[in-house]
Amino acid sequence: MAYVIYFTIVRASTFVNSPYNQRQDAFAEDVIRGNITDRNGNVLAQTNVADDGTETRYYPYGSLFSHVVGYSDPDLGKTGLESVENFELLTSNAFFMEKIQNEFNGAKDQGDTVVTTLDADLQQAAYNALGDNKGAVVIMEADTGKILTMVSKPDFDPNSLASDWDYLNSDDENSPLLNRATNGSYAPGSVFKIVTTLAYMRQNSNYASYSYDCQGSITQGDVTIRCFDSTVHGLEDLRSSFANSCNSSFANIGLNLDISGYQDTAKDLLFNSELPGVLDYTKSSFALDKNSDTAEIMMTAMGQGETTVSPYHMALITQAIANGGTLMEPYLVDSVTNYTGTEVRRNVPKSYARLMTSEEAAQLKDYMTAVVNEGTGSVLSGRSYTAAGKTGTAEYSLVDGERTHSWFVGFTNVDNPELVISVITEGSDGSAGGKAVSIAGTILDSYYN
Ligand SMILES: [Zn+2]
Repeated sequence: MAYVIYFTIVRASTFVNSPYNQRQDAFAEDVIRGNITDRNGNVLAQTNVADDGTETRYYPYGSLFSHVVGYSDPDLGKTGLESVENFELLTSNAFFMEKIQNEFNGAKDQGDTVVTTLDADLQQAAYNALGDNKGAVVIMEADTGKILTMVSKPDFDPNSLASDWDYLNSDDENSPLLNRATNGSYAPGSVFKIVTTLAYMRQNSNYASYSYDCQGSITQGDVTIRCFDSTVHGLEDLRSSFANSCNSSFANIGLNLDISGYQDTAKDLLFNSELPGVLDYTKSSFALDKNSDTAEIMMTAMGQGETTVSPYHMALITQAIANGGTLMEPYLVDSVTNYTGTEVRRNVPKSYARLMTSEEAAQLKDYMTAVVNEGTGSVLSGRSYTAAGKTGTAEYSLVDGERTHSWFVGFTNVDNPELVISVITEGSDGSAGGKAVSIAGTILDSYYN
């Protein structure tokens, strides 16, 4: 008994502060790695123990959660929740007398269960809707920051990781091991007009009286910016510029912005900054500065240029707008229980930062509502739920010509926002305009119907 007490109290506290998985893995000699479940108790990862004591980590959903749950392999390491929750999974809060009995019998204790915020049904719906596209989907609750869904494709099956390893690491074109949701660095395209609009609102108290007559393109010096499909949008205010996603109007707005203030707004929205959350991520980059030329300013204002962002980061910005300006700290672990389900600890929602005032959030929400009601996101209107959002098409150059990413960020139940969604599909041909928004619609339909 003295040894058990020593082990569970003294040694556990020594290990609790160790950031090194290798050291934590010493626990694996005494503890069977615990389960990871979704929020409804569906098992996403478990350890099977053969009669001879051999332990195999098993992922019942195959590739469905490959990036967010990740993998745990004695030779290949750990990623995703398997990595960041390693300590919890190798800690046993099984009942004391049971642990003593195990100790006498030379048996291992069962590790704790990590109950995530993920929803297997919604994850499956997003996975199916993304289909064969490369890209990512992130869905979170607006008012809590709980992450319900995180899909990245191409993916991999963690059950056959060892045999697939060489292939997975040599496929540079598809990079199946990359979690595009958090580590994808994409041109934001027109979803970045959210940032530009906020910067313009902050610098022009009379922004409501902004007007611009779109002729389908704008030329400044030797640079010409065209609207999508060279559409002539005509006379617009800020709201209709946003709803129509008018490139010419936003290039014009960019030319009227104070760049230092624009940088400040981007920074307030966490560009070039650390992001909250538990998984590994890539920082987003906003590259304009006082030396940027006219072309770069016009391009950046409409979401092209040097700016890069992850789908996860765009979900955070959208969540703050939906939530009245306050970003709730996103999280993936709802609670930790012992293996019988007795709660050890629970995470509660908490605010991370105020990204904008409630007035600014309300104004952006109104503009995003216009996108769905009368603009480029109208495919989402007339459904069983209300939605607001912003579409985007991001051009990027490849040796074989112009290709585009398709974006959508938005939220549902506009009067009392419920789900926040961020979708990107990579490398579609020129007709990609509405691809991401229609994928978002398919996912949300499955949730609400
Ligand atoms: Zn236009």
